[in-house]
Amino acid sequence: MTHRPTPPASSAQPTGSTMYNGAPADSDRNSLSQGNLGPLLLHDVQLVDTLAHFNRESVPERRPHAKGAGAFGTFTVTQDVSKWTKADFLQPGKTTRTLTRFSTVAGEMGSPDTWRDVRGFSTRFYTEEGNFDLVGNNTPVFFIRDPMKFPHFIHSQKRLASNGLRDNNMQWDFWTLNPESAHQVSYLMGPRGLPKSWRTMNGYSSHTYMWINASGERFWVKYHFISEQGVENLSNAEAETLAGKDAEYHRRDLWNAIAEGNFPSWKLSVQVMPYEEAKTYRINPFDLTKVWPHADYPLHEVGVLTLNENPENYFAQIEQAAFAPSNYVPGTGFSPDKMLLGRVFAYADAQRYRIGPNYDQLPVNQPVPEVTTYKQDGPMSYHHHGSAPTYAPNSMGKPFSDFEGRVEDGWEADGEMIRAAYELREDDDDFSQAHDLVRNVYTEQERDELVNTLVGATEGTNDEVFERVIWYWTNIDEEVGTKLRERANR
Ligand code: NDP
Repeated sequence: MTHRPTPPASSAQPTGSTMYNGAPADSDRNSLSQGNLGPLLLHDVQLVDTLAHFNRESVPERRPHAKGAGAFGTFTVTQDVSKWTKADFLQPGKTTRTLTRFSTVAGEMGSPDTWRDVRGFSTRFYTEEGNFDLVGNNTPVFFIRDPMKFPHFIHSQKRLASNGLRDNNMQWDFWTLNPESAHQVSYLMGPRGLPKSWRTMNGYSSHTYMWINASGERFWVKYHFISEQGVENLSNAEAETLAGKDAEYHRRDLWNAIAEGNFPSWKLSVQVMPYEEAKTYRINPFDLTKVWPHADYPLHEVGVLTLNENPENYFAQIEQAAFAPSNYVPGTGFSPDKMLLGRVFAYADAQRYRIGPNYDQLPVNQPVPEVTTYKQDGPMSYHHHGSAPTYAPNSMGKPFSDFEGRVEDGWEADGEMIRAAYELREDDDDFSQAHDLVRNVYTEQERDELVNTLVGATEGTNDEVFERVIWYWTNIDEEVGTKLRERANR
């Protein structure tokens, strides 16, 4: 008889679980059969429930931003910004609990963290006036300026209809046919397109938002989370090796840092533009493909975001976290940025589809203040108002809101209904800020590496698309365009 070693000691003890109805379960290990070789029995409730629930364990992954992770933390106000906003959580000395999720954009749930891509940087502030979500990226601009183009943009970054492969040709076809992408593409193909970790990248609201102070004065703001760990990036070679060795490199890094008590932090600053200045500023301040140069609008410190608590349960607290820019609070508001206005609808709608129409009742999404609403019922309805009236106005005492008049977070608009891009201002064009980044911000070495990255990223493009790529890059920076043609040898 063969000697089999005894298994190592284990603390696993069958101390008893329950079935889904709460009654004791017989076994989590053996299904119920008619004798040793007999058929399994349909009335084995524990087996049937276990298999059926397993089939339903996933919710649809986010369409973009599927792969990510995050952590809870705190935001503490360090400066007095009350002259620009009355938002309670932004008043001096306030500390607010937060949840931040980082992600890649194009890759699916299991894709490597270190593919070259923009990174999502979303932070929820659980304020006493309700949830406030800043759903930003690690870049201060974006590829397009009209939400009509968003699904087309994401389709071009995802997979070919025919073979399900990602495809450089369609990426560049889309980008070069939408030259407003030049600034963001220059950022993406540069050093910050491969962050070393989520801890070592900045976050930007990218959009322009509104702040309103206690006197009702309005300001336009852009938010900047600047990493206190410093900005560090990977080389193409490092990122490629890591993509094969450890697809979860960024997720692991954040988890381990927090588990070891090495809490990452970001200084939050804002650029502030007085309301009236937006009307005549030389660049359209609501165009998401542009930054506000620091020389025109310097950063003003607001506070510090620190991530100090890993989730207890990834699915419940990160996968089901439903960030949406429609979550805003008094003292903050939207702006005429068309991409923002599109996202204000689309994000909450994505959560309704992904998690269900009552996603806001899940613990991770519940706001601090009590919710009094006339939204009711639907799948998985948990909170309810008992027998209170289901309509407003009502004469039975359930509160309702009845404000009429000029809203404090609005702006003026008139003119014919049109379908058109923003009117160009004096210094508006698609290539100048991209050129500024490539020529005046990147070092000589970073520009050289940019050309190498572009050679790899344009492999497989057809001749028509490649010629447009050369036109696009020559407009951004003539030398980069020339070197790209030389090194691609086409
Ligand atoms: P400045 O000349 O005042 O500063 C350039 C900014 O570029 C830095 O403050 C830094 O922003 C950012 N930066 C530094 N190195 C890199 C890099 N390798 N890749 C990407 N960004 C980098 O800038 P301006 O405001 O006049 O803008 C010039 C260009 O800088 C813009 O066209 C834009 O592409 C880029 N930029 C501008 C930002 C802005 O909000 N004004 C923000 C980020 C980039 P940070 O401190 O945020 O890291």
